Amino acid sequence: MKEDAARLAALIKVSRRAVIFTGAGMSTESGIPDFRSPGGIWTRMQPIEFKDYLSDPEARRLSWQRRLEMEETWNTVKPNDGHRAVAALVARGEASHVITQNIDGLHQQSGVPEEKLIELHGNTRYAKCLDCETRLEIAGILAHFTAHGDAPACEQCGGLVKTATISFGQPMPEAEMARAEAAVKACDLMLVLGSSLVVYPAAGFPLQAKRQGARLAILNREETPLDRFADLVINAEIGPTMGPVIDAL
Ligand code: NAD
Ligand code: ZN
Repeated sequence: MKEDAARLAALIKVSRRAVIFTGAGMSTESGIPDFRSPGGIWTRMQPIEFKDYLSDPEARRLSWQRRLEMEETWNTVKPNDGHRAVAALVARGEASHVITQNIDGLHQQSGVPEEKLIELHGNTRYAKCLDCETRLEIAGILAHFTAHGDAPACEQCGGLVKTATISFGQPMPEAEMARAEAAVKACDLMLVLGSSLVVYPAAGFPLQAKRQGARLAILNREETPLDRFADLVINAEIGPTMGPVIDAL
């Protein structure tokens, strides 16, 4: 365990521009279940595809019902030791960017500035009009949903409103993809924290980093399909592992 932390700290020390890539495993220590671990969200509910959200009022209702059920969780969860370690690496200039697949907003809450954070799959803490992209706050939508059983239409254009997350089948956000590509192009170390690395195109970034000559380090409870390309693989919990890494820098 100590050796793993020392090896990861050594990789971080020699790198000049590390990029941190995070997945749902980053937030399990805050009490948010991931998708693919035993007991994860997918063992309990089917994801709602984007095309169904667009075409089927019942899918939209189910989607907002699930969002309503999560509201208390989103209002009470806190960043964990792993988030704090990531924020420390950014604050110390050890990491240039954090690319996250998470939608929970916990990297921001732990102090990672917006300009250093790239949210590939959006954010569940607010909503957007799918047509004009106007931002809407969740509280008002949930109040409308509780009263009427559906989400309000966009006040600006009458368009469909959806949480600002990227669903299966929904196009990836262009600006975020471009920012991620630029960050990865410039990086000399890619540190993966808590991702099964099976969701594409997101998982393409660690692979791209390795292909262009960056070192690749993966810290994940379980094996991933990219382990064989990695310079360092640590199968352990993120928070307890990253604390000693920060101390060793
Ligand atoms: P995933 O569920 O596919 O994989 C998570 C990985 O993290 C697993 O391999 C698991 O073994 C590992 N893990 C879990 N807890 C860990 C811990 N404490 N320490 C070390 N490893 C740990 O998640 P993914 O790769 O991010 O892909 C799933 C998709 O689900 C993403 O697109 C993401 O947007 C979405 N998602 C997000 C959240 C969130 O925002 N917190 C939660 C669930 C799902
Ligand atoms: Zn609109």
